[in-house]
Amino acid sequence: MKRQERHAFIQNTLRDWFAANARDLPWRRTNDPYAVWISEIMLQQTRVEAVAPYYERFLARFPTVASLARARLDTVLKLWEGLGYYARARSLQRAAQEIVSRWGGRLPSSREELLTLPGIGRYTAGAIASIAFDRREPLVDGNVARVLCRIFRLHGSPKDTAIRERLWSIAQELVPAQRPGQFNQALMELGAEVCLPRGPRCHVCPVERVCEARLHHEQDLLPTRVPKKRLPHYVVAVGVIYHRGRILIDKRQPEGLLGGLWEFPGGKKQRGESLPAAVRREVREELAITVRVGRPLAVVDHAYSHFHVRLHAFECTYVSGTPRCIACADFKWVRPGDLGRYAFPAANKKIIAVLRSRQPAK
Ligand code: SF4
Repeated sequence: MKRQERHAFIQNTLRDWFAANARDLPWRRTNDPYAVWISEIMLQQTRVEAVAPYYERFLARFPTVASLARARLDTVLKLWEGLGYYARARSLQRAAQEIVSRWGGRLPSSREELLTLPGIGRYTAGAIASIAFDRREPLVDGNVARVLCRIFRLHGSPKDTAIRERLWSIAQELVPAQRPGQFNQALMELGAEVCLPRGPRCHVCPVERVCEARLHHEQDLLPTRVPKKRLPHYVVAVGVIYHRGRILIDKRQPEGLLGGLWEFPGGKKQRGESLPAAVRREVREELAITVRVGRPLAVVDHAYSHFHVRLHAFECTYVSGTPRCIACADFKWVRPGDLGRYAFPAANKKIIAVLRSRQPAK
């Protein structure tokens, strides 16, 4: 089959297959650019099942770009709590503010303009432009990379620059002028439902007869896997500090990992340091107060994208000093029953669950 014929076959077959087999997902019931944008940001590195309830709640609370632009970041982060990769939420709001100031609250439709917004990279720009605005723009995410590596039998890792550029170039050639968004979604859906990372379901695949990997029995070998790096492991000690029936929490600096979220004060244990000593030192360095470290409260393991952490939480009592933010953005003394009003990282949420299951210490 000639190259052009093959492209046409893939385009037509995939669009028909998608029309008959697409999952009914909330963000597929609309072409509203704002809703498409929110869903695409939420879906980055996050499973569809996890995103669905967040998407519905987010759009109910912030139905327009303008409403998101004027929201308090704390409110946005609270709605995002549990979805992870919080930089996405912060960028989303900054982008909403730019869309209001530069485009009167309407998302721009061109890939180039979309790329100027915080949090919008090559993939997201292609997704919004093609799905919401019917622009003939390609996209390559993890699913599409796997599908194209197999159909076109590309050897090498999609993480390598040369392979990645080849994938974008193939995606550009493939995306049709007619309903490009449907085609892009079909490619992603094929990767999510049929061309699975392990054990691709070639016997039900609509493009099986033009898939080079399948023809060469290499579908389980492609894309080439690179061995995963061993992630660093950190031991962190935190204090749940009580004073007059309230608990001290502090807010992380706005940028960086978990930026803008609330947490119990603490930090990494140093070599040779005991856990209680680490709590005392970290609290002093973070908030300039002295605490007495009491009984252990919980041990929580959590995996982030780039490291693993074991969090040791201790009940503490305030001893002296006036709290001030040395290494945080804000702090508050809150009633234990009000902890749920603040956005915490997942590991801290586990400590709150332990607190709820126990009697207050003081
Ligand atoms: S034939 Fe198999 S390997 Fe090829 S695209 Fe379909 S599911 Fe993937």
